[in-house]
Amino acid sequence: MSETHKTVAVIGAGLSGLACAVQLTKAGYTVAVFEKSRGVGGRMSTRRVSDTLEQGVSLNWQCDHGAQYFTARDPLFIRQVNEWIAQGVVGIWSPSLHSFGIKPGRQTPYTGDITRYVGVPGMTAPARQLAKHLNIHCQQRVTSIRQQNGLWMLAIEDQHSLHGPFERVVFALPAQQVDALLAASLDVPADFLTHAASFTQQHALSPCWAMMLHVAEPLSLPFDAAFVNPDSSSHSVLSWMARDSSKPGRPAGAGESWLLHASTDWSLQHIDSLNTEVSAAMLSAFTRLTGIHPDRHRPVSSSLHRWRYAQALHSLNSPRYVLGSSCGLGICGDWLNKGRVEGAWLSGYHLAHALIADAC
Ligand SMILES: Cc1cc2nc3c(=O)[nH]c(=O)nc-3n(C[C@H](O)[C@H](O)[C@H](O)COP(=O)(O)OP(=O)(O)OC[C@H]3O[C@@H](n4cnc5c(N)ncnc54)[C@H](O)[C@@H]3O)c2cc1C
Repeated sequence: MSETHKTVAVIGAGLSGLACAVQLTKAGYTVAVFEKSRGVGGRMSTRRVSDTLEQGVSLNWQCDHGAQYFTARDPLFIRQVNEWIAQGVVGIWSPSLHSFGIKPGRQTPYTGDITRYVGVPGMTAPARQLAKHLNIHCQQRVTSIRQQNGLWMLAIEDQHSLHGPFERVVFALPAQQVDALLAASLDVPADFLTHAASFTQQHALSPCWAMMLHVAEPLSLPFDAAFVNPDSSSHSVLSWMARDSSKPGRPAGAGESWLLHASTDWSLQHIDSLNTEVSAAMLSAFTRLTGIHPDRHRPVSSSLHRWRYAQALHSLNSPRYVLGSSCGLGICGDWLNKGRVEGAWLSGYHLAHALIADAC
């Protein structure tokens, strides 16, 4: 058996890439995962903030700023979630949930009987658990792939030598990032490029501004989280707000952490706005919607994140994954499987099994 037999490079250590890598590893493949960020999890992300306040007092707090919770409907994913619960990295979040209606100031309890899961102690926890037994290369941004002697090699930002060889390469990235990487690559067959583009162009991901706040005193709002109706023209800045500290397993402490997500339309309109302008608009929308006093409840610390590729806009007719059998390239990600955390995991899982079946 040659050294390159069953070698796979997975680009992206979000949930889809990790799920794919775990299945391939279990099947005896040698898998290397390349991730551009410092850690794994991708859009299942928790920010940890360490601030020094006046009089040298230090303040540590955290907030999930990507995926807020996830649901599980498919038996395969339910089994995975139960494993995570047994491992202590996932818990059930039962927030008091409200919905802000079209009329300003109108909010009603939101009813719906789905179970909402979150990572414990933060949203990255299940991804970290999956990554435990994988060969992950963090802070390695793949800039292109090309062939050498019929096998795939990876070029990494700021590195002269190529990584490889790999028999297969999996792109576990948002649609636009797959497009960019394929465009920069060499030797990718034209039919695979055309096939991939037919999906990436249909399933482009929309942006989302996320603002994280820490307040010294509880706000005493009547809800832990709230959907904000996007049709409400005067309040369309936000789409979601959540008291992150109401999630299970969060560090106990004084004060509260809140997460605000801007609506898709507003995020699109303000994608290149200055952070100061975005923060001011989101905070003002929050105080207006909740009726809290802007001075009395001024955040002691805050942080902003721009997700350029947050959620799939059009996720109908999802093919689950894309596989180019003859060239050894595959694509997985939430956007190929109806969006969201469950879709991402299933996309990676099914691509891995398709690759395994393809090799037989
Ligand atoms: C604001 C927001 C709110 C959300 N809310 C929810 C929710 O409430 N419920 C829910 O189920 N889902 C939610 N989602 C969606 C959910 O987070 C995603 O469906 C899921 O995490 C996607 O996983 P993925 O593996 O497909 O992609 P990603 O998590 O995006 O993983 C891709 C990875 O590839 C890495 N990468 C990119 N380019 C390169 C490169 N060139 N080289 C190496 N690495 C690279 C990235 O750093 C990233 O880690 C939300 C997402 C966002 C952003």
